[in-house]
Amino acid sequence: MIRARLAPSPTGNLHLGNAWAFLLAWLFARQAGGTLVLRMEDIDPARSRPEFVQGILHDLAWLGLDWDEGPDNGGPYAPYTQSQRLARYAAALEALAAQGHTYPCYCTRKELRSLAGAPHAGELGPPYPGLCRGLSPAACLAHEAAGRRAAVRVAIPPQYATMAFEDGILGPQEFSLHEEGGDFAVRRSDGVYAYQLAVVVDDLAMNITQVVRGSDLLSSTPRQMLLAHLLGGHPPAYLHVPLLVNEAGERLAKRHDSLALCALREAGACPRAVVGWLAFWGGLVERPTPMAPQELVGTAHMAALQRQVVRLPYDCGSLLSGK
Ligand code: GLU
Ligand code: ZN
Repeated sequence: MIRARLAPSPTGNLHLGNAWAFLLAWLFARQAGGTLVLRMEDIDPARSRPEFVQGILHDLAWLGLDWDEGPDNGGPYAPYTQSQRLARYAAALEALAAQGHTYPCYCTRKELRSLAGAPHAGELGPPYPGLCRGLSPAACLAHEAAGRRAAVRVAIPPQYATMAFEDGILGPQEFSLHEEGGDFAVRRSDGVYAYQLAVVVDDLAMNITQVVRGSDLLSSTPRQMLLAHLLGGHPPAYLHVPLLVNEAGERLAKRHDSLALCALREAGACPRAVVGWLAFWGGLVERPTPMAPQELVGTAHMAALQRQVVRLPYDCGSLLSGK
Protein backbone atom coordinates (compact mmCIF):
# COMPACT_ATOMS: atom_id res chain seq x y z
CA MET A 1 0.00 0.00 0.00
CA ILE A 2 1.45 3.33 -1.11
CA ARG A 3 1.57 6.13 1.45
CA ALA A 4 2.80 9.53 0.26
CA ARG A 5 2.85 12.91 1.97
CA LEU A 6 2.57 16.65 1.54
CA ALA A 7 4.89 18.29 4.06
CA PRO A 8 4.55 22.08 3.96
CA SER A 9 6.34 24.40 6.38
CA PRO A 10 4.01 27.16 7.61
CA THR A 11 6.66 29.85 7.31
CA GLY A 12 5.01 31.73 4.47
CA ASN A 13 2.28 31.61 1.86
CA LEU A 14 2.22 28.76 -0.64
CA HIS A 15 3.56 29.85 -4.00
CA LEU A 16 3.35 28.36 -7.46
CA GLY A 17 6.47 26.27 -6.84
CA ASN A 18 4.86 24.62 -3.81
CA ALA A 19 1.64 24.13 -5.77
CA TRP A 20 3.60 22.36 -8.49
CA ALA A 21 5.42 19.98 -6.13
CA PHE A 22 2.24 19.26 -4.13
CA LEU A 23 0.18 18.70 -7.27
CA LEU A 24 2.70 16.07 -8.38
CA ALA A 25 2.87 14.39 -4.96
CA TRP A 26 -0.93 14.32 -4.88
CA LEU A 27 -1.14 12.97 -8.43
CA PHE A 28 1.41 10.29 -7.71
CA ALA A 29 -0.58 9.08 -4.68
CA ARG A 30 -3.93 9.24 -6.47
CA GLN A 31 -2.76 7.48 -9.62
CA ALA A 32 -1.33 4.72 -7.43
CA GLY A 33 -4.54 4.43 -5.42
CA GLY A 34 -2.48 5.25 -2.33
CA THR A 35 -3.05 7.22 0.84
CA LEU A 36 -1.99 10.84 1.10
CA VAL A 37 -0.86 12.36 4.39
CA LEU A 38 -0.67 16.09 5.10
CA ARG A 39 1.95 16.94 7.70
CA MET A 40 2.57 20.46 9.02
CA GLU A 41 6.29 21.00 9.52
CA ASP A 42 6.24 23.75 12.10
CA ILE A 43 9.13 22.83 14.42
CA ASP A 44 10.90 26.15 14.03
CA PRO A 45 9.11 28.35 16.57
CA ALA A 46 10.76 31.51 15.26
CA ARG A 47 9.56 31.07 11.68
CA SER A 48 6.27 29.16 11.85
CA ARG A 49 2.99 31.04 12.24
CA PRO A 50 -0.56 29.77 12.81
CA GLU A 51 -1.96 32.06 10.13
CA PHE A 52 0.24 30.35 7.54
CA VAL A 53 -1.15 26.96 8.66
CA GLN A 54 -4.67 28.18 7.91
CA GLY A 55 -3.51 29.74 4.65
CA ILE A 56 -1.88 26.48 3.50
CA LEU A 57 -4.99 24.38 4.27
CA HIS A 58 -7.09 26.92 2.40
CA ASP A 59 -4.76 27.20 -0.62
CA LEU A 60 -4.44 23.42 -1.02
CA ALA A 61 -8.21 22.99 -0.91
CA TRP A 62 -8.63 25.93 -3.33
CA LEU A 63 -6.35 24.16 -5.81
CA GLY A 64 -8.53 21.08 -5.51
CA LEU A 65 -6.06 18.89 -3.62
CA ASP A 66 -7.31 16.67 -0.82
CA TRP A 67 -5.65 14.41 1.73
CA ASP A 68 -6.73 11.35 3.66
CA GLU A 69 -4.95 12.06 6.94
CA GLY A 70 -3.88 15.39 8.34
CA PRO A 71 -4.03 17.98 11.09
CA ASP A 72 -7.63 18.88 10.26
CA ASN A 73 -9.10 15.44 9.59
CA GLY A 74 -6.90 13.30 11.86
CA GLY A 75 -5.92 9.71 11.13
CA PRO A 76 -4.20 6.67 12.63
CA TYR A 77 -0.81 8.38 12.97
CA ALA A 78 -1.96 11.60 14.63
CA PRO A 79 -0.83 14.17 15.50
CA TYR A 80 0.09 15.45 12.02
CA THR A 81 1.64 18.68 13.28
CA GLN A 82 5.34 18.46 14.09
CA SER A 83 5.21 20.85 17.03
CA GLN A 84 2.97 18.26 18.73
CA ARG A 85 5.43 15.42 18.12
CA LEU A 86 8.46 16.72 20.02
CA ALA A 87 8.51 13.78 22.47
CA ARG A 88 9.03 11.45 19.50
CA TYR A 89 12.03 13.44 18.28
CA ALA A 90 13.46 13.43 21.81
CA ALA A 91 13.06 9.63 21.99
CA ALA A 92 14.75 9.19 18.60
CA LEU A 93 17.63 11.38 19.71
CA GLU A 94 18.01 9.30 22.87
CA ALA A 95 18.07 6.11 20.83
CA LEU A 96 20.78 7.54 18.57
CA ALA A 97 22.80 8.75 21.56
CA ALA A 98 22.47 5.40 23.36
CA GLN A 99 24.12 3.74 20.35
CA GLY A 100 26.92 6.28 20.29
CA HIS A 101 25.84 7.86 16.99
CA THR A 102 25.75 11.45 18.26
CA TYR A 103 28.02 13.94 20.00
CA PRO A 104 27.60 17.38 21.52
CA CYS A 105 28.90 20.29 19.47
CA TYR A 106 29.64 23.65 21.06
CA CYS A 107 30.53 25.50 17.89
CA THR A 108 28.55 28.68 17.56
CA ARG A 109 28.14 28.81 13.85
CA LYS A 110 25.54 30.95 12.23
CA GLU A 111 24.29 28.03 10.19
CA LEU A 112 23.14 26.30 13.38
CA ARG A 113 20.34 28.82 13.59
CA SER A 114 18.61 27.78 10.41
CA LEU A 115 18.67 24.04 10.96
CA ALA A 116 14.96 23.59 11.60
CA GLY A 117 14.26 24.62 8.03
CA ALA A 118 14.90 22.24 5.16
CA PRO A 119 18.12 23.22 3.36
CA HIS A 120 16.88 23.90 -0.15
CA ALA A 121 19.37 23.76 -3.02
CA GLY A 122 22.40 25.92 -2.46
CA GLU A 123 21.62 26.66 1.20
CA LEU A 124 23.94 24.12 2.75
CA GLY A 125 27.15 25.72 4.02
CA PRO A 126 30.61 24.15 3.88
CA PRO A 127 30.96 20.69 5.46
CA TYR A 128 31.32 20.68 9.25
CA PRO A 129 34.98 19.86 9.92
CA GLY A 130 34.20 17.63 12.92
CA LEU A 131 35.78 19.96 15.50
CA CYS A 132 33.79 18.60 18.45
CA ARG A 133 34.00 14.93 17.55
CA GLY A 134 35.78 13.24 20.41
CA LEU A 135 35.54 16.17 22.84
CA SER A 136 36.44 14.91 26.31
CA PRO A 137 33.83 15.02 29.09
CA ALA A 138 36.01 17.60 30.84
CA ALA A 139 36.04 19.83 27.77
CA CYS A 140 32.23 19.55 27.55
CA LEU A 141 31.90 20.49 31.22
CA ALA A 142 34.13 23.49 30.66
CA HIS A 143 31.91 24.66 27.81
CA GLU A 144 28.79 24.15 29.93
CA ALA A 145 30.39 26.02 32.83
CA ALA A 146 31.05 28.90 30.46
CA GLY A 147 27.31 29.00 29.74
CA ARG A 148 27.43 27.38 26.33
CA ARG A 149 24.78 24.93 25.20
CA ALA A 150 25.54 22.10 22.82
CA ALA A 151 23.94 21.29 19.53
CA VAL A 152 23.79 17.54 18.82
CA ARG A 153 25.46 16.13 15.73
CA VAL A 154 25.39 12.72 14.12
CA ALA A 155 28.81 11.15 13.59
CA ILE A 156 28.68 9.70 10.08
CA PRO A 157 29.66 6.03 10.41
CA PRO A 158 32.37 5.04 7.90
CA GLN A 159 30.18 2.35 6.34
CA TYR A 160 27.62 5.01 5.38
CA ALA A 161 30.06 7.63 4.10
CA THR A 162 28.79 7.04 0.57
CA MET A 163 25.06 6.67 0.04
CA ALA A 164 23.69 5.38 -3.23
CA PHE A 165 20.04 5.12 -4.12
CA GLU A 166 17.70 5.01 -7.05
CA ASP A 167 15.54 8.10 -7.37
CA GLY A 168 12.16 7.24 -8.86
CA ILE A 169 12.38 10.17 -11.28
CA LEU A 170 16.07 11.12 -11.52
CA GLY A 171 17.51 7.60 -11.63
CA PRO A 172 20.69 6.37 -9.87
CA GLN A 173 22.20 8.79 -7.35
CA GLU A 174 25.34 8.68 -5.27
CA PHE A 175 26.43 11.14 -2.58
CA SER A 176 29.34 11.50 -0.21
CA LEU A 177 27.90 12.43 3.18
CA HIS A 178 31.19 14.10 4.08
CA GLU A 179 30.85 16.46 1.16
CA GLU A 180 27.15 17.07 1.84
CA GLY A 181 27.64 18.85 5.14
CA GLY A 182 29.65 16.23 7.05
CA ASP A 183 28.51 15.36 10.59
CA PHE A 184 25.15 17.12 10.62
CA ALA A 185 23.15 18.54 13.48
CA VAL A 186 19.95 16.86 14.62
CA ARG A 187 19.23 19.37 17.38
CA ARG A 188 20.19 23.01 17.70
CA SER A 189 21.83 24.41 20.79
CA ASP A 190 18.52 26.10 21.69
CA GLY A 191 16.82 22.69 21.77
CA VAL A 192 14.98 22.98 18.45
CA TYR A 193 15.09 19.72 16.50
CA ALA A 194 16.55 19.78 13.02
CA TYR A 195 14.40 19.27 9.95
CA GLN A 196 16.47 16.20 9.00
CA LEU A 197 15.61 14.40 12.22
CA ALA A 198 11.94 15.36 12.42
CA VAL A 199 11.23 14.44 8.83
CA VAL A 200 12.81 10.98 9.18
CA VAL A 201 11.15 10.18 12.51
CA ASP A 202 7.78 11.13 11.02
CA ASP A 203 8.24 9.41 7.66
CA LEU A 204 9.07 6.20 9.55
CA ALA A 205 6.33 6.59 12.17
CA MET A 206 3.69 7.43 9.57
CA ASN A 207 4.72 4.50 7.35
CA ILE A 208 5.46 6.75 4.39
CA THR A 209 6.49 4.55 1.47
CA GLN A 210 7.20 7.25 -1.15
CA VAL A 211 8.58 10.74 -0.66
CA VAL A 212 7.64 12.94 -3.62
CA ARG A 213 9.14 16.44 -3.30
CA GLY A 214 11.11 19.13 -5.08
CA SER A 215 14.58 18.24 -6.31
CA ASP A 216 16.03 21.08 -4.26
CA LEU A 217 15.84 18.57 -1.38
CA LEU A 218 17.68 15.83 -3.26
CA SER A 219 20.92 16.34 -1.32
CA SER A 220 19.07 15.91 2.00
CA THR A 221 18.09 12.40 0.99
CA PRO A 222 21.36 10.64 1.91
CA ARG A 223 21.27 12.18 5.40
CA GLN A 224 17.68 11.10 5.81
CA MET A 225 18.45 7.57 4.62
CA LEU A 226 21.33 7.40 7.08
CA LEU A 227 19.08 8.48 9.97
CA ALA A 228 16.43 5.96 8.95
CA HIS A 229 19.03 3.17 9.03
CA LEU A 230 20.47 4.32 12.37
CA LEU A 231 16.95 4.39 13.82
CA GLY A 232 16.44 0.80 12.68
CA GLY A 233 13.96 1.61 9.94
CA HIS A 234 13.76 1.28 6.17
CA PRO A 235 14.00 4.54 4.24
CA PRO A 236 11.08 5.21 1.90
CA ALA A 237 11.53 5.45 -1.87
CA TYR A 238 12.34 8.96 -3.10
CA LEU A 239 11.01 10.78 -6.15
CA HIS A 240 12.40 14.26 -6.74
CA VAL A 241 10.34 16.34 -9.10
CA PRO A 242 11.83 19.10 -11.28
CA LEU A 243 11.90 22.54 -9.75
CA LEU A 244 9.71 25.31 -10.99
CA VAL A 245 11.76 28.46 -11.62
CA ASN A 246 10.73 31.93 -12.66
CA GLU A 247 11.55 33.46 -16.02
CA ALA A 248 14.93 34.55 -14.63
CA GLY A 249 15.71 30.95 -13.66
CA GLU A 250 15.38 31.56 -9.90
CA ARG A 251 13.86 28.95 -7.59
CA LEU A 252 10.55 30.31 -6.37
CA ALA A 253 10.68 31.44 -2.78
CA LYS A 254 8.57 33.32 -0.32
CA ARG A 255 9.91 36.61 -1.60
CA HIS A 256 8.32 36.05 -5.03
CA ASP A 257 5.07 37.41 -3.63
CA SER A 258 3.26 37.85 -6.91
CA LEU A 259 3.43 34.09 -7.46
CA ALA A 260 1.85 33.27 -4.09
CA LEU A 261 -1.40 31.39 -4.57
CA CYS A 262 -3.28 33.98 -2.49
CA ALA A 263 -1.91 36.76 -4.73
CA LEU A 264 -2.88 34.91 -7.90
CA ARG A 265 -6.35 34.30 -6.45
CA GLU A 266 -6.74 37.99 -5.66
CA ALA A 267 -5.62 38.83 -9.18
CA GLY A 268 -8.51 36.72 -10.44
CA ALA A 269 -6.79 33.43 -11.25
CA CYS A 270 -9.03 30.39 -11.18
CA PRO A 271 -7.60 27.18 -9.67
CA ARG A 272 -8.50 25.15 -12.77
CA ALA A 273 -6.33 27.44 -14.88
CA VAL A 274 -3.45 27.10 -12.43
CA VAL A 275 -3.68 23.30 -12.48
CA GLY A 276 -3.99 23.17 -16.28
CA TRP A 277 -1.00 25.42 -16.88
CA LEU A 278 1.18 23.65 -14.29
CA ALA A 279 0.41 20.27 -15.88
CA PHE A 280 1.16 21.71 -19.32
CA TRP A 281 4.43 23.39 -18.33
CA GLY A 282 5.57 20.14 -16.69
CA GLY A 283 4.87 18.10 -19.81
CA LEU A 284 1.99 16.07 -18.31
CA VAL A 285 -0.67 17.18 -20.79
CA GLU A 286 -0.55 18.45 -24.36
CA ARG A 287 -2.65 21.57 -23.91
CA PRO A 288 -3.10 24.01 -21.02
CA THR A 289 -6.79 23.20 -20.67
CA PRO A 290 -8.28 24.40 -17.36
CA MET A 291 -8.96 21.36 -15.22
CA ALA A 292 -9.40 19.98 -11.73
CA PRO A 293 -6.55 17.85 -10.34
CA GLN A 294 -8.96 14.89 -10.40
CA GLU A 295 -9.09 15.10 -14.20
CA LEU A 296 -5.32 14.60 -14.33
CA VAL A 297 -5.55 11.25 -12.57
CA GLY A 298 -6.79 9.47 -15.69
CA THR A 299 -4.94 11.55 -18.28
CA ALA A 300 -1.55 12.72 -16.99
CA HIS A 301 1.49 10.75 -18.10
CA MET A 302 3.97 10.75 -15.24
CA ALA A 303 6.50 9.17 -17.59
CA ALA A 304 6.30 12.32 -19.72
CA LEU A 305 7.17 14.51 -16.74
CA GLN A 306 9.96 16.80 -17.74
CA ARG A 307 13.29 16.13 -15.96
CA GLN A 308 14.91 19.56 -16.22
CA VAL A 309 13.68 22.64 -14.39
CA VAL A 310 10.27 23.91 -15.43
CA ARG A 311 10.71 27.54 -16.38
CA LEU A 312 7.73 29.85 -16.04
CA PRO A 313 7.00 32.16 -18.94
CA TYR A 314 7.41 35.88 -18.57
CA ASP A 315 4.42 37.48 -16.82
CA CYS A 316 2.84 34.13 -16.01
CA GLY A 317 0.75 35.86 -13.32
CA SER A 318 -1.25 37.61 -16.03
CA LEU A 319 -1.50 34.39 -18.00
CA LEU A 320 -2.93 32.56 -15.01
CA SER A 321 -5.39 35.28 -14.11
CA GLY A 322 -6.50 35.62 -17.72
CA LYS A 323 -5.49 39.27 -17.97
N1 GLU B 1 8.82 20.93 5.05
C1 GLU B 1 9.89 20.93 4.10
C2 GLU B 1 9.87 22.22 3.30
O1 GLU B 1 8.92 22.89 3.24
C3 GLU B 1 9.81 19.80 3.09
C4 GLU B 1 10.00 18.48 3.72
C5 GLU B 1 10.13 17.33 2.76
O2 GLU B 1 9.38 17.25 1.78
O3 GLU B 1 10.96 16.47 3.05
O4 GLU B 1 10.84 22.57 2.71
ZN1 ZN C 1 31.42 21.77 17.21
